Amino acid sequence: MVQIHLITEFILAETHCTVSHLQSDFIKEKKGMSKIEYTDKTINFVTGCSKISTGCQNCYAETMTFRLKEMGQEKYQKGFNEVVEHWDMLPFEFSRTPKRYMINSMSDTFHPEVSFGFIFKMFEQFIHFPQNTFMIFTKRPERASRVIPKIWSYLSKAYPARQFPLENVWLVVTTENQEMYDKRIHYLLDTLVAVRGLSVEPMLSHINFGDHLEQIDWIALGGESGSKGRPMHPSWALSARDQCKSHNTAYWFKQHGEWGFPNGFKKKRITMLIDGRIFKNDDDFCQFCSVTPEELDRLHPSTRQKLGKKKSGNMLEGRTYTELPTLIKN
Ligand code: SF4
Repeated sequence: MVQIHLITEFILAETHCTVSHLQSDFIKEKKGMSKIEYTDKTINFVTGCSKISTGCQNCYAETMTFRLKEMGQEKYQKGFNEVVEHWDMLPFEFSRTPKRYMINSMSDTFHPEVSFGFIFKMFEQFIHFPQNTFMIFTKRPERASRVIPKIWSYLSKAYPARQFPLENVWLVVTTENQEMYDKRIHYLLDTLVAVRGLSVEPMLSHINFGDHLEQIDWIALGGESGSKGRPMHPSWALSARDQCKSHNTAYWFKQHGEWGFPNGFKKKRITMLIDGRIFKNDDDFCQFCSVTPEELDRLHPSTRQKLGKKKSGNMLEGRTYTELPTLIKN
């Protein structure tokens, strides 16, 4: 009993959560309900992962796996460092009414330790539930670009009456900064899927998406939440919004994250003299777009504060952005 109490204390100290948050996460995980705004449900056929880039630093799945393991959930007893395929969940009964599912939010479907056979079986389930949408997020698009065409090829032989790629499957590649975007985007563009998306979360730098957006249907973007969240500058989110607008790409702004501007942020109004340098934003030029989160810490002490995800909110220039792809590009 004392040990359970100590573990709970440790989890709360590490994650800055309340007991009711832990219980609510536990219940949501059990019911497959999602806290992620653009999905109705999350289903985890795979658990466990390994970190691949700086966006993984404060991995939510890792923290959650630790919590769920300590709370006794059988599915998470192997911990985060072991990738487990949950064959017992297949075949799976998805909803009979339309829902948006995020698949494997507690892992990465294209992790090298997830077998081709298992990924194939997961995709095969999607065929039987055309009323639902299946969103697959990955930081490993290189493997996705090799595996997915093979899956379409095998499935088209097994289900000759169906069309491939399946129109209800989205591939969403996570790209937290310019470097990862440049590295991962070509694999996404090379993969034949009905909907191509980018998840820029946590956003850790300004990203110039370039003309690749012509082939991207959706961008979901947000700053990092949690006590260890790194700052995102609103200029980066605004620039992404404008780039999406000029390429007819749907834009979902999820949140500012842990850091926010208590008095709001107006792109045009900022002019600051720091260390003898003028930092200024106007329509044509964004000085803040070129800085790193570490520099932001230094440059913005007076205007930016650690407000927490709830208070920093999800407003950009006075409104929210919750667009989903309607016109699918080829
Ligand atoms: S790829 Fe995703 S689940 Fe895996 S460590 Fe990185 S953030 Fe966590």
